[in-house]
Amino acid sequence: MSKIKKIIIANWKMNPTNLKEAKKVFTGIKRTAIKLSNVKTVVCPPFIYLDDFAPLCKENKISVGAQDAFSKNKGSFTGMISPEMLKKNGVTFVILGHSERRALGETDEFINNKVRMSLKTGLNVVLCVGEKERDEHGWYFPFIKDQLLSGLEKVGKSDLKNILIVYEPVWAISGNSGGQSMSSAEVHEMTIFIKKVLSDKYGINTSLPKILYGGSVNPKNAEDIFVNGQIDGLLVGKASLDIEDFGLILKIANKI
Ligand code: PEP
Repeated sequence: MSKIKKIIIANWKMNPTNLKEAKKVFTGIKRTAIKLSNVKTVVCPPFIYLDDFAPLCKENKISVGAQDAFSKNKGSFTGMISPEMLKKNGVTFVILGHSERRALGETDEFINNKVRMSLKTGLNVVLCVGEKERDEHGWYFPFIKDQLLSGLEKVGKSDLKNILIVYEPVWAISGNSGGQSMSSAEVHEMTIFIKKVLSDKYGINTSLPKILYGGSVNPKNAEDIFVNGQIDGLLVGKASLDIEDFGLILKIANKI
């Protein structure tokens, strides 16, 4: 994963509502993704569509990811999907710690268990962190540090090449109150902070995970966030369901 220049992840959440529409969006995204030499695209549809799309991802330029995975690989866990099941079905990435799952009650400890099991199974982990709100005293800095260090507890240096960190402030996610992308200067500040936390943990000479930004990214703000935010990629929700908008975001990332 370290050779990939930019990485753009589509988080479809619980959309589209039927396979026909999902296939249409996936095919549209793939058409653009396979033409781009500078970008890796990862589409994360609902679990139920993964089987249909994984076989269509032979090229290195596009892969499928899951939106979650459980912390164990087998057992009596009703409703859960294991990292091993995903891996065996051609899934190579998994989003963990998304704020919408944290809001359902997932703790840092649970997320860390999922992170470690997914890494052990050979999946690339997309670990999301982000504060719910900002305060004038900057308490979001220690909050993010805590989420990062808890999520990566007992994760060794050798696993870092299979981890992507997504900084996704909850208040900036479209649909949430505010729902406005943060400024590229603020993204840059947080990128530096996250790198500092990681290099304090893993050592200054360690090659660190890529840092992505997520939260109301669209074709209008993508270039500014990329260039001035100094990030390695994006996690895109709403705009990733629009073939044209997502295609534009991919092309913008490709030319930077
Ligand atoms: C998300 O929730 O992961 C996300 C990036 O959403 P949006 O782009 O719609 O803000």
